[in-house]
Amino acid sequence: MDAMQVKIIGGGLAGCECACQLADRGVDVELYEMRPQTMSPAHHTEGLAELVCSNSFKSTRFDSAAGLLKEELRRMGSVLLACAEQAAVPAGGALAVDRVEFSRLVEARMNDHPRIRVIRQEVGELPEGYAVIAAGPLCAASLAGALLERTGGSSLSFFDAAAPIVDASTLDMDVLFTQSRYGESGDGDYLNAPLSKDEYEAFIDALVGAERVVLKDFERKELFSACQPAEEVARTGRDAIRFGAMKPVGLIDPRTGRRPWAAVQLRAENAERSAYNLVGFQTNLTFSEQRRVFRMIPGLEHAEFFRYGVMHRNTFVDSPHVLDATFCIPGTHVRLAGQITGTEGYTEAIASGLLAALNTYADLTGAPSVALPRTGAFGALVAYATDPATQDYQPMHVNFGLVPALEDGVKRSKRDRYARYAVRAIDDLDAYIATRRDLFAPRGA
Ligand SMILES: Cc1cc2nc3c(=O)[nH]c(=O)nc-3n(C[C@H](O)[C@H](O)[C@H](O)COP(=O)(O)OP(=O)(O)OC[C@H]3O[C@@H](n4cnc5c(N)ncnc54)[C@H](O)[C@@H]3O)c2cc1C
Repeated sequence: MDAMQVKIIGGGLAGCECACQLADRGVDVELYEMRPQTMSPAHHTEGLAELVCSNSFKSTRFDSAAGLLKEELRRMGSVLLACAEQAAVPAGGALAVDRVEFSRLVEARMNDHPRIRVIRQEVGELPEGYAVIAAGPLCAASLAGALLERTGGSSLSFFDAAAPIVDASTLDMDVLFTQSRYGESGDGDYLNAPLSKDEYEAFIDALVGAERVVLKDFERKELFSACQPAEEVARTGRDAIRFGAMKPVGLIDPRTGRRPWAAVQLRAENAERSAYNLVGFQTNLTFSEQRRVFRMIPGLEHAEFFRYGVMHRNTFVDSPHVLDATFCIPGTHVRLAGQITGTEGYTEAIASGLLAALNTYADLTGAPSVALPRTGAFGALVAYATDPATQDYQPMHVNFGLVPALEDGVKRSKRDRYARYAVRAIDDLDAYIATRRDLFAPRGA
């Protein structure tokens, strides 16, 4: 067989997973990453696989869609999930990582692989030959334009937001207390800032009244509802955020022995716990307003910000209508992967990169495309993202609303149902993997 070669555009989560998977199967990979010459509006480093916002890959519970997705990735041999687990920091029932360590591990994997060449260069045109575009939601304008032209102007976009990160040494630990909400494993993986009713009311007033950055665009409501800025959530009702990010349920303030009226949770960014992010406080406030408003949170009066929250345009293509069932641009060997296909979330981006590698490898070797079982967390998301019947396509995380109902028709509690979805998914995936040794066995080439 002639040497197999694939170009990958984008050294993010999807691109790096794709590169490792192809290279491990004996494919020569050129991976193009535009940073540091061209920085995206949300990336801060030149590191590969940089996490642009939260440091959490979400739940590890097997009976949640996010936890099931991780198990599916483990079974399919995901390289980046293994890196994330290696770089994990305590986070209750979630997989959160030290983002610097995670990026370092991925980058080492890529640089050490004899079949991967990382080229620091922006790509402005659709590549020739076998290629995977994994340029992410902040894809450079040049390439986004080329893609738009090729896919018939069906690319879409909305706004997304990131949360601020504060310096741990500037937090008042006499006020903050360490505790995880009940029902979550881990005894004290979060710092909690308790607010009284009066403090909460004053904070909400400040939050909704603060100056924002992209007010005009923002009011056009091109938002992804799962990642709304905190101030926008607060604007929907005085108590809205108290039922979300500031939920006090399951917390007891050790100073009062009582549940606070509301609480802000902070999650460690690294193993040393020298930096914390404000969980659920993605925001579009100006930097000076973030300093003013977030310092009203008890314990954060003197907080210094390592990074302010930001809001950005988020680009994706109308996958169900402009790509084929393997996310390939029809008539080409160019495939899309990651958030740019509308499969939303860090872990989903890794899964999407893995799938793109398998399908590209199948093309190169003349094998049939991948047909992941629809019962799986990722198989169900892929089915949604590639079904031409999908109307008004919007980015989507994995969720159990997408998987087919259980066949026995028995009424069950949500928990029991989810546990059964998970078992069924893994049984089906194992069975599928066993039939595709052509794709899954040739690793290590
Ligand atoms: C502001 C923001 C916050 C987000 N927060 C979260 C979150 O907290 N949790 C979550 O699960 N998901 C979040 N997401 C959604 C999504 O999961 C992440 O964006 C994820 O990183 C997507 O992975 P990816 O590999 O598709 O893209 P990315 O990780 O963004 O990687 C794409 C790479 O391509 C490079 N690139 C772009 N254009 C070119 C070009 N023309 N040539 C060469 N290189 C190029 C970029 O520099 C980048 O390194 C967020 C998205 C945004 C925009």
